[in-house]
Amino acid sequence: MSFAEGGSIEMMIVMREGAGEAEIEQILERLAEAGATGHVSTGDVVTVIGVIGDREVIAGLPLEAYAGVDKVLPILKPYKLVSREFKRRDSVIQVGDTRIGGGHVGLIAGPCSVESREQLLSSARYVKAAGATMLRGGAFKPRTSPYAFQGLGVDALKILSEARDETGLPIVTELMDPRHLEDVREFADVIQIGARNMQNFQLLSAVGTVDRPILLKRGLAATIDELLMAAEYVAKGGNQDIILCERGIRTFETATRNTLDIGAVPVLKQRCHLPVVVDPSHATGRVDLIEPLSLAAIAAGADGLLIETHPSPETALCDGGQSLNPGDFEKTAARIKDMIEWTGRRLG
Ligand code: PEP
Ligand code: MN
Repeated sequence: MSFAEGGSIEMMIVMREGAGEAEIEQILERLAEAGATGHVSTGDVVTVIGVIGDREVIAGLPLEAYAGVDKVLPILKPYKLVSREFKRRDSVIQVGDTRIGGGHVGLIAGPCSVESREQLLSSARYVKAAGATMLRGGAFKPRTSPYAFQGLGVDALKILSEARDETGLPIVTELMDPRHLEDVREFADVIQIGARNMQNFQLLSAVGTVDRPILLKRGLAATIDELLMAAEYVAKGGNQDIILCERGIRTFETATRNTLDIGAVPVLKQRCHLPVVVDPSHATGRVDLIEPLSLAAIAAGADGLLIETHPSPETALCDGGQSLNPGDFEKTAARIKDMIEWTGRRLG
């Protein structure tokens, strides 16, 4: 169900274990009579109904008196669908044969941008061999300078899908413009919304209606709650498969390109049920910091990493200074796998 019509979830009805369809239907009918709507979220054990409508009116309904109802809780946070209050268990997002969230850790790797067929296919092969679970590569690039390489566009999408066919790795690539949504949706397994577009609300609403998971990067100057509100835009459209990404924020510190907010990882995981990944490449801009911060991110509970790599970083058209070469990526991936195991989780 989508909430494109507007309204936010004010209340959460937690059904008793084993409550059946008839009991749920009864509640939905009662809500409809009162001019409210219910969004049913079926869990492994219990079903939860999110109620949209006038807070006062809903509060006046004797919902707790219904046989199937365990408890009724107000949702106090401004974000609703993505909140831990709405869903207590970690969301696990399936992408092709791999998973992310709830004990499954993703390793997304590949170049900043797709530069050529050879560069991308070679990247796909070595990241796969080192244990990556998904392949990244930009087709449409958000560049600070209009004179910098802007990406190969649809040609890059075709190369990415060739790499998926060969390696089986799902593709993560960025969408910048709703006009490219159909093309990106066709070729990508996960649609990335970049830091610069985190508050492009029309773009967020557009990807809220597609059947592809969204990787939503934190804006350069966005608070944690602003990131969660951006995720809520996507979820409100009906697409609840959202992966959040901490990729560093602007601070007064100049030693690194941005400052990695490692504390955001456990805070996000307390506040929402979505998987959280960390991008140490864009967070620091420095290849030598990728490994230590990857390990720190996993130790802090991140559900995955997004790491830039390049077959020859010194010739990269974009972000070479923060891209691991194949040999270093292999070493770092091995240490990351150890850390994943040490935290009692598994790769993919
Ligand atoms: C990227 O992932 O290539 C990218 C441009 O990242 P960000 O939006 O975090 O700057
Ligand atoms: Mn990049």
